[in-house]
Amino acid sequence: MKYLVVDDSPTMRRIVINALKSFGIEDIIEAEDGIDGLNKMKDSKPEFIITDWNMPNMNGLEFTKAVRGNPEYASIPILMVTTRGLKQDIIEALQAKVNNYVVKPFTPLVLKEKIGAILKT
Ligand SMILES: [Mg+2]
Repeated sequence: MKYLVVDDSPTMRRIVINALKSFGIEDIIEAEDGIDGLNKMKDSKPEFIITDWNMPNMNGLEFTKAVRGNPEYASIPILMVTTRGLKQDIIEALQAKVNNYVVKPFTPLVLKEKIGAILKT
């Protein structure tokens, strides 16, 4: 299963990717913002997306809406990983149809549980 990790912070991408690798996930592509993410998706179709919210050029909310607006991508699970933990933020993200939400900082275990919960439903 191919994962796409979208975050403008190389450090945060590394943290997420290292966590995924610790779960045995090796097929991972990365992008630095929503535009880069959409471009990468044209070439290599991810089956699971983990995205940050706050990014330049195209943020994670706009990226989620773009993915959901494309019938070809509409059913790909999206997990949002962000520092934005206010209730209103979470509601807005869920309305944009992210499947689940992780507030930074997070442990690898929490990430694993959120991914597992999405894949089970
Ligand atoms: Mg960011």
